[in-house]
Amino acid sequence: MKKYYLLLGSNIGNSINVINKCIEEIENNVGVILNRSSFYISEPWGFSSNNMFYNIAIEIASLLKPEDLLEYIKNIELANGRIKNETQWSDRIIDIDILFIDNMIINTPNLTVPHKLLHKRMFVLKPLSQIAGELIHPIFNQNINSLLKECDDKSNVKKLITPNI
Ligand code: ADP
Ligand code: MG
Repeated sequence: MKKYYLLLGSNIGNSINVINKCIEEIENNVGVILNRSSFYISEPWGFSSNNMFYNIAIEIASLLKPEDLLEYIKNIELANGRIKNETQWSDRIIDIDILFIDNMIINTPNLTVPHKLLHKRMFVLKPLSQIAGELIHPIFNQNINSLLKECDDKSNVKKLITPNI
C-alpha cells in the first residue's frame, strides 16, 4: 500500500463537477481517498488565458504501482474530455498530476516524482499545505509549509469558500 498525493486542475468546462467526478472515479478504480483539500482558484501559470483554474489536492492510499497509477489517471483524464497532445500549459478540462508517492524518488521517461515543479507553484503548495503541511519533500528535505513560505511564485491563489451542504 502506498500513499499518493495528487493535484487535479481544470480551467474549462464545469471545472468543479469534472474534478468531483474524477475524484469519484479515482475512488472507484484507483484507491481510497484519505483526504481532500478545499477547491482553490488560481491564475493560469506559465501561459495566459482568461479562464481561471480550479485546483484541489487529494491524498489516497493505493495498492497500484506508480506506473500503473499513472496509466489509470491518464485514462480518467481522457474519459473526462482531456484532449491528447495539447501544447504544454494550455487551457484544459482536466489535468491530474502525481505530486508525491510516500517518500519515493522516481525519474523515468514517463514519471518524475516528486513532481518536478511543485515547489515553484503556489497553486500546488497552497492546497497541498492544507492537507499535508508537515509532509517532507524527499529531495529538498523541507516540509510543504516551509516550501510554501519560501516560494517566490506571486500568482494569485484563493481558497474557494463553499457553503456547507
Ligand atoms: P502537464 O501536467 O505538465 O501539463 P501532461 O498532463 O500532458 O502535462 O503530462 C505530460 C506527461 O508528463 C505525462 O504523459 C506523464 O507521462 C508525464 N509525467 C511525468 N511526471 C509526472 C507526474 N509526476 N505526474 C503526472 N504526469 C507526469
Ligand atoms: Mg499532467
